[in-house]
Amino acid sequence: MRLGLRIIVLIKQVPDIEKVRFDVETGRIDRSSAPAETNPFDLHALEAGLQIKEKLGGSVTVISMSPRQAESSLKDALARGADRAILLTDTRLAGADTIATAKALAAAIRKLGEFDLILCGEKTVDGDTGQVGPEVAELLGIPHAAYVCEIREITHEWIKVVSDMGDKYLYELKLPALLTVTRELNSPRLPTLKDLLRAKRSQVEVWTADDLSEYVPLDQLGFQGSKTRVVKVVIPSTEHRRGIMLRGDEAVEKIGMIILSEVLGK
Ligand SMILES: Cc1cc2nc3c(=O)[nH]c(=O)nc-3n(C[C@H](O)[C@H](O)[C@H](O)COP(=O)(O)OP(=O)(O)OC[C@H]3O[C@@H](n4cnc5c(N)ncnc54)[C@H](O)[C@@H]3O)c2cc1C
Repeated sequence: MRLGLRIIVLIKQVPDIEKVRFDVETGRIDRSSAPAETNPFDLHALEAGLQIKEKLGGSVTVISMSPRQAESSLKDALARGADRAILLTDTRLAGADTIATAKALAAAIRKLGEFDLILCGEKTVDGDTGQVGPEVAELLGIPHAAYVCEIREITHEWIKVVSDMGDKYLYELKLPALLTVTRELNSPRLPTLKDLLRAKRSQVEVWTADDLSEYVPLDQLGFQGSKTRVVKVVIPSTEHRRGIMLRGDEAVEKIGMIILSEVLGK
């Protein structure tokens, strides 16, 4: 009988999407224009992993492929209760599209060895494709369910989940499997100050492209391994509406004039 489940959570650091600007020339996000945070959906994936660990025992490993600054998101995950954190970072991994991203993540998972469950967000708030999770599952040859809004039951052998695709579907998947999760699944816990201080002292393991070379040809990673390119980025124009404040008799007169000119104009 195996002790606990080996759970992996994939985490991406994203810019605060309310503040971020796009570099229209290069088609890339100008990451210096906004502070970074953990992709909100990934916090729900982490929370699901932590709840399963609390129920059945085991471990939660978080992995991110990102520039060095994503270490802060991984430390945040350690503070929330993850046991191990791995950052894949290397200039040879930069400029990856979704398939090159998935190949790097799948290679890292293979390098880790055996696992039972992989959890991802349903999508990111920047790239927003929702492709990486299902691609990782395909590359590893395991079943997956997307848009999971409820975990009904889990054992060491299988998991029963509800997937929200407009209509709701109940799936039973044999482990190992991968889930992408929605915000409805749970409420992510907040780390305490003590947790944050403990995580600050803990180590994030850093792996480079060379660490993955046994598991994936390096020319399939990063910009070189990407089959898609951003040709053009267009920022939709926003139309601003004007408001004027009118008071008293003057208001009646002016509104009357506006209506009259509209009617006569037509
Ligand atoms: C056509 C195209 C071209 C692109 N070209 C570039 C480029 O040239 N340069 C560039 O910097 N970016 C580029 N990107 C963005 C980059 O490919 C994506 O950020 C990355 O592949 C993840 O895709 P996504 O954000 O859509 O993730 P989704 O598929 O929406 O993410 C779903 C889930 O997968 C997991 N996940 C996703 N990405 C990671 C990660 N990096 N580490 C760990 N877990 C992760 C998370 O759990 C996440 O919630 C491009 C994207 C597209 C669609």
